[in-house]
Amino acid sequence: MEQTTFTPLLHVVSEMAERCDQCGAAAKLQLTLAGGALAFCGHHANALAATIIGNAVRVAVLSGFAWHGELALGTPASTVDGQTGATRGQRVFRNSR
Ligand SMILES: [Zn+2]
Repeated sequence: MEQTTFTPLLHVVSEMAERCDQCGAAAKLQLTLAGGALAFCGHHANALAATIIGNAVRVAVLSGFAWHGELALGTPASTVDGQTGATRGQRVFRNSR
């Protein structure tokens, strides 16, 4: 309960009408930030996965889209003894390079 929740809520949606804010392709992922919302295509959603996880409050993923960030969110590392959110966050960034 005392740990900082840096992990965004993840939702799966069946339809997405948005366009990628980076390239204008059909969006496969939408994220809600503290100050607004963004949408990304599959390419940009994966390329920016670490940034999205670090900044989004909630993330909506189009059904059937295998987002790279979803693997990071699904990792049970946060429940491992001695693992902190900060350590896990750094590892995500390192792996993304
Ligand atoms: Zn894009």
